[in-house]
Amino acid sequence: ELVSSGRRIGAREALAMGLVDRVLTGEPRALALATAGEADDGSLATRRTGEAHVSADPAGIAEVKAALQATQSHLFSPHKAVESVENSVGPLADGLAEERRLFAQCIASPQRAGLIHAFFAERAVSKIPEAGASARAVETVGLVGAGTMGAGIATALLLAGLCVVLTERDEAALARGRASVAKALDGAVARGKMDAAAREAALGERLTLSTDIAALGAADLIIEAAFEEMDVKTQIFAELDRVARPGAILATNTSYLDVDAIAGATGRPADVIGLHFFAPAHIMRLLEVVVGRETAPDVVATGFALAKRLRKVAVRSGVCDGFIGNRILSHYRKAAEAMMLDGASPAEIDSAVRAFGFPMGPFEMMDLAGLDIAWAARKRRAASRPADERYVAVADRVCEAGWFGRKSGRGFYVYGDGAPVPNPDVAAIIDAERAAAGVVPRAFSEDEIIARYITAMVSEAVRVVEDGTALRPIDVDAVSLFGYGFPRHKGGPMHTADVIGADVLVRRIETYAADDPHFWQVPPLLRRMRDEGRLFASLNT
Ligand code: NAD
Repeated sequence: ELVSSGRRIGAREALAMGLVDRVLTGEPRALALATAGEADDGSLATRRTGEAHVSADPAGIAEVKAALQATQSHLFSPHKAVESVENSVGPLADGLAEERRLFAQCIASPQRAGLIHAFFAERAVSKIPEAGASARAVETVGLVGAGTMGAGIATALLLAGLCVVLTERDEAALARGRASVAKALDGAVARGKMDAAAREAALGERLTLSTDIAALGAADLIIEAAFEEMDVKTQIFAELDRVARPGAILATNTSYLDVDAIAGATGRPADVIGLHFFAPAHIMRLLEVVVGRETAPDVVATGFALAKRLRKVAVRSGVCDGFIGNRILSHYRKAAEAMMLDGASPAEIDSAVRAFGFPMGPFEMMDLAGLDIAWAARKRRAASRPADERYVAVADRVCEAGWFGRKSGRGFYVYGDGAPVPNPDVAAIIDAERAAAGVVPRAFSEDEIIARYITAMVSEAVRVVEDGTALRPIDVDAVSLFGYGFPRHKGGPMHTADVIGADVLVRRIETYAADDPHFWQVPPLLRRMRDEGRLFASLNT
């Protein structure tokens, strides 16, 4: 398990496993000399005797192989690690030679480059224009709304040792919020992230509850996580402007809405910022820091400092509909829906996307997030939808039937006691929509599904870089890796674009444009990279 996971362990665990002989405390040189003396006079009883041999353990190997196959079948190196143990039965020198041979294969694998890129992405995103500004002190954070996100954000803040003031519209909502925080902290205790006494202190001493927004008057930072409606947000921000102390930072957790318009509801737009957390907020590592037109540099720096304290990866985003992540997501979701109308089933698309390495496919994800949320967003955008956009109404029909996904037991899938199964009624809806659109369904191979899905993702990602919403291609990669389940070993969409090649991507888009010229357009920056023979990686420095 250790060899195939690369999990790091501490000295005590290594001792318990028999990997080291002793753990000593004291001055290192003196301890080393004393131990060397014992080794010399033979009094050190080590566990190693004679030449090392690996003995065969076919049952153990089979068990690890089965576990790996179940959870990490798409990864290269963990399987090589197990193979190396399996092939090392016999003299040490032969085993080491075999290990060397397999290691060289891992080094040559494209997954190595992807993983290294992902490693650097986490660090690269902290290079922002505001890095020189000093962050404002944050000890007490206020929250408006204690629903899914408010409670999750409160949990993350409490786990990091901050004080939290949670506010809601009424006592019942407040009690529900507190109960979800308590439950999430129980989970943290169970996972060893916090001990029981610290949980009590967090809930008893560092969490305050109120139905009065004035309770946020002393907070250093206030995060709004109320309903995703502009009127609700502007009303809350106008009130926050009245109650917040001077110098307090006013943040919104909005997923799509215009942060500048929200800031405009206050008399202090320089103190307003978007802090876009991802669900579940105490687990997901991404934090999009959305910088408005007037957001002050030290407010941006504070967002990044907070992320660090929460052990999250902050990525700077400009203001646009959906910021970096949701804007790209909305786009590739449309590609998935178009394939669904043209002949691929939601289950086929989900399965192809999982085979690529995502933890789940787009339809499973919509069911999990709740179909009503995206439905509301589509209704909001309906008036401004371009006339030549090919609109797929299947998800609307599913919502009209009252199926909102997991939470209502039905969506694209039916959720019962066992594994979810495709919802047969959705198949009928798709058939009806195909008939209405005059589409004759065709078959899609797994390769074609992934090619279209990833090409759509890359296209919008390129536009996000091109219009300056993201600082660099690697920032987009970080968003996808830490917030959207992009497989780490593939490094993110922009790294993948470099692997596929701009020439291939341009050709794909030009081919797909035959079906839908509105959706499939070559972003000018992609064409330029192709013409100049450059990699997106060259834009990272
Ligand atoms: P939710 O419906 O679970 O929670 C919203 C809460 O806000 C409710 O409990 C409601 O009572 C409370 N509320 C509404 N108006 C209020 C007011 N004036 N004062 C105090 N409380 C008020 O919604 P959610 O999923 O937590 O989403 C909250 C925000 O976070 C939205 O803007 C959403 O777009 C965003 N967001 C959601 C997700 C997600 O996956 N759910 C992810 C990122 C961002």
